[in-house]
Amino acid sequence: MHNHHHFQILLMNQADTFRHRGMRKRLVELIKSRGISDAEVLRAMEAVPRHLFAFESAFIERAYEDNAFPIGEGQTISQPYTVAYQTQLLEVKRGDRILEVGTGSGYQSCILAEMNARIFTIERMKTLYEKAKKTLAWLGYSQVKCFYGDGYDGLPTFAPFDKILVTAAAPFVPENLIAQLRAGGILVIPVGAGELQVMKRFIKYSADEVKEEVYDYFKFVPLLPGKKN
Ligand code: SAH
Repeated sequence: MHNHHHFQILLMNQADTFRHRGMRKRLVELIKSRGISDAEVLRAMEAVPRHLFAFESAFIERAYEDNAFPIGEGQTISQPYTVAYQTQLLEVKRGDRILEVGTGSGYQSCILAEMNARIFTIERMKTLYEKAKKTLAWLGYSQVKCFYGDGYDGLPTFAPFDKILVTAAAPFVPENLIAQLRAGGILVIPVGAGELQVMKRFIKYSADEVKEEVYDYFKFVPLLPGKKN
């Protein structure tokens, strides 16, 4: 009886139903009312089933609220508004090569893949890296390349990138990441070692000309040094 019940919940969790799509539509309306205007960002958010990135039933039910939730290892999937905000700042173009630091659940990678970008994503926690790789394959986002490593290093082998997105709080702006942007490239990164971080956008015009823009305050989990198993 107990097992049967558990199996039913599992089946429900793995489906994208009419009800889930309805909740997603309302979430997108909310994000729009909060000021996100990029139609492609809103379309991607409506397309990706966020509840399939939750691993506990309590959070599956709440996946379409505008909140972060835990994904294990003390990490979180970012709040939908934050995902939309960072994605909008990236000005994603079809075919962009994008490096994401902090794969986490893989949700943000799917949003970028949905916008027809080519994604390279790094995660320092082995368990999250393994889990995200499976989720991405299962959802059919095979164009996302997952890497287990340290985001501070970037991915020199695959550089330069058109865009770089950091999804954890950086105490400072890693020089490697600026170096791995092509001329004309954009880095979006929440900066700050305290409770709150300020969203910054760097536009690299050339090797020695980088413009810095400052946006709103957000709360991210910290970017951690080095690798961990
Ligand atoms: N983009 C994710 C949310 C990321 S939360 C999503 O859509 O679900 C931040 C992630 O950054 C966590 O998974 C954390 O383990 C990872 N992280 C922290 N420090 C890192 C580092 N130095 N290099 C790579 N990933 C790191």
